[in-house]
Amino acid sequence: MDGPADRGLDERIDDLEALYQDLHAHPELAFEERRTAALVAGRLAAAGYAVTTGVGGTGVVGVLDNGAGPTVLLRADMDALPVREVERVPYRGTATATDPDGATVPVMHACGHDTHVTALVGAVEQLAATRSAWSGRVLAVFQPAEEIGAGARAMLADGFLDRFPRFDVALGQHITSAPSGHLYARPGVFMAAADRPPRRCSSRAGAWLAAADHRG
Ligand SMILES: [Zn+2]
Repeated sequence: MDGPADRGLDERIDDLEALYQDLHAHPELAFEERRTAALVAGRLAAAGYAVTTGVGGTGVVGVLDNGAGPTVLLRADMDALPVREVERVPYRGTATATDPDGATVPVMHACGHDTHVTALVGAVEQLAATRSAWSGRVLAVFQPAEEIGAGARAMLADGFLDRFPRFDVALGQHITSAPSGHLYARPGVFMAAADRPPRRCSSRAGAWLAAADHRG
């Protein structure tokens, strides 16, 4: 991959790695992503995007108009989880927060949303820097509260579809356990299930689940 739109990409890596480590060291729970949102808004504005903050709570939307062509929505989620980090990396998160029940909980980017934010910041900055190589419109969406399944709905309830350009295609992302350098893609839902097995089920169903689990 080495075209006009890739120009300068390698020089961004150190800066993006620093951004990732900063985000990882400062995780924030769902709808509390104020520091993350402010960081993102600053980067978007510096890159030339029209920025709207506070969409659906802490959501951030950036729009880059670059002539005729499709409008592409690129999305990342920003929130972390109430999980204690045991990794010994120097940039590990040591933050605590108060959860909605009033309990003090540890916070960690255990689901990789720090990576998602970094990747999208890198992509939108790269697109802005190489805008002579493409035309169309970028709609960058940094969504709050994915972990509790509420952030996208909150952005929609805040008039997202009316306030921002209609898009032709939407691309989400999620990291996964896979060999480094690999990218997996498919249309439709991918890594987006939030279902749990029912807590109560019949003994026959339970036996089947146990058997299936054993086989798996
Ligand atoms: Zn996630």
